[in-house]
Amino acid sequence: MIDLADDDTAAAVLAQVPCYPVPPSGRSPAIDALREARTGQGLAIGQAGVMLILRRPWLALDTYVTRPPSAYLPYGKGDQERAELRCGLVPHVFLEMVLRHLRAALPNEAAAFVTWNEKTRAFAVEFPDIDEATPSRLVYRTPVLPPDWHVVCDIHSHGTGPAFFSATDNADDAHATKISLVFGRLDQPGHEDMASRLCAAGMFLPIPRSPFQGDDHAA
Ligand SMILES: [Zn+2]
Repeated sequence: MIDLADDDTAAAVLAQVPCYPVPPSGRSPAIDALREARTGQGLAIGQAGVMLILRRPWLALDTYVTRPPSAYLPYGKGDQERAELRCGLVPHVFLEMVLRHLRAALPNEAAAFVTWNEKTRAFAVEFPDIDEATPSRLVYRTPVLPPDWHVVCDIHSHGTGPAFFSATDNADDAHATKISLVFGRLDQPGHEDMASRLCAAGMFLPIPRSPFQGDDHAA
């Protein structure tokens, strides 16, 4: 087989994000291995486009990152997109804990993280160290977690203002794999505003529903 790169460093980079064609049959052991990995990412190229397959212990994401190629390729079509929480939905009690914490900080903004342990499959909530909090500005740090724990949701409030992702939020979210949530209008219990997205590979993807069990906040 011909090498993909002519030096070890380049080869190591390519091995971190391998790229495989979809066979005409549709099934590929290499692509299956990407899908079954505990953690990793790679690309599958088919008639339907280039699909990013990204895995974290808590997340399975298959998403097209290009349109279908206009050239004819003798490849298979490629699979359906999916975004699934391998950790399952977050129990509702954690949403209540988070909302209580965010409300208690009013009129200031506040933040919380939902974390998950891949060994015990337990969820937890972490309240981060806050460097600065005002009604319109919040500076906080992502917690450093013990082994086996992962950040699933990074949550902050916009106090009594509307929930949306600001330019600052976009810069903060650009380099992480996580669900990002903003809650607003926290002075109106039961009528809070929520904005959500999945951050992965530098992209912000809409999520079709709330990551919390039994939550009717439109995502
Ligand atoms: Zn924000």
